[in-house]
Amino acid sequence: MTVKTVLVTGGAGYIGTHTMVELLTSGYDVVCLDNFSNSSPEAVKRVEKIAGKRVTSVTGDVRDREVMSRVFKRPIDGVIHFAALKAVGESVAKPTDYYGNNVGGSLALLEAMNERKVRRIVFSSSATVYGVPETLPLSEDAPVRPINPYGHTKAMVEQILRDWCAADLTCTAIVLRYFNPIGAHPSGTIGEDPHDVPNNLFPFIAQVAIGKRDKLTIWGGDWETPDGTGVRDYLHVVDLARGHVDALRYGFENTGYRNINLGTGQGTSVLQMVAAFERAASKKISFAIGPRRAGDVAACWADGSSAQQLLGWRAAMSVEQACVDGWRWQQQNPDGYRGQRTAG
Ligand code: NAD
Ligand code: UDP
Repeated sequence: MTVKTVLVTGGAGYIGTHTMVELLTSGYDVVCLDNFSNSSPEAVKRVEKIAGKRVTSVTGDVRDREVMSRVFKRPIDGVIHFAALKAVGESVAKPTDYYGNNVGGSLALLEAMNERKVRRIVFSSSATVYGVPETLPLSEDAPVRPINPYGHTKAMVEQILRDWCAADLTCTAIVLRYFNPIGAHPSGTIGEDPHDVPNNLFPFIAQVAIGKRDKLTIWGGDWETPDGTGVRDYLHVVDLARGHVDALRYGFENTGYRNINLGTGQGTSVLQMVAAFERAASKKISFAIGPRRAGDVAACWADGSSAQQLLGWRAAMSVEQACVDGWRWQQQNPDGYRGQRTAG
């Protein structure tokens, strides 16, 4: 069997690094394209070290035509498209940056794919496209009603991909709507590396545990949930990465457009997450209940049956395991990739 080559845009990022490890260990060759706007070349080196295989790394922007023609000079069998900006709050403040990078970047990528007749793409979408859930669990046929510019960029790219597949019946787009990825690779050498104050719960808790932040503010203790704190569907990033390998394989065997949720189907509250992290780190996490955060929903979790039926994928790792692995990454890399403590 010939080895397939996969282009991974945004491969140096949090989910991209974990996915590149799973692709390499599943026998794919990988080309990583990243402009390192939110990541570091060190992350790619660590991927190579875990997998014991080289990545072809290209530094550049998906919107740069010259870079894209260089990337597509080699035969590419399929693309996994992670490259995007992802902070919801920032997307409200800088909408044109978000539409430009996320929608403009996806269009530039599709144009380059069209030129080279590359017809397989796996796209990083998000549960945020559902907006405020009407019923739980969320299945793929729930209405798409984003409530912020970031969510709109994801919904727009979904529509573009739907039309792209309708125009050429040999094309495949697998759109993965992720719930809440957390944790890190069990080696402790790759993980999430936020450059500013983390917006997300998990990296914030990890930074409280390591002593970088005094305490966690829990955004609301009066939600309509069993303990009053927000409930989400947290999935281990290695499970999520494996879901991409399964989606890619499905994409090579099928044509057309598909939305697929990747989540565990289980809800975990903020207080439950704090308790799980405390057990993993054998430390107390200080917290205070604050006001609700604008734009938050009480609860959100996935109906994961499509992923199971179509891809044969289901989350195998627990929130507890994600806390153990995320804590290992945080301890070994207190300053993320900038510290480079586990490199070499
Ligand atoms: P990340 O910021 O760690 O990774 C994104 C990578 O893309 C970074 O390495 C960044 O440098 C690169 N990049 C951004 N714009 C680029 C451009 N124009 N050209 C080339 N490279 C570019 O984010 P992540 O958490 O790994 O997320 C990956 C994808 O998954 C994103 O599309 C994000 O919207 C989506 N997603 C993430 C989450 C989450 O909670 N992390 C949830 C749902 C969806
Ligand atoms: N959260 C919190 N404090 C924080 C960050 C998040 O209480 O510092 C809560 C948030 O209100 C939500 C849950 O943790 O109920 C998950 O938030 P996150 O931003 O990680 O994911 P999202 O809201 O995008 O699903």
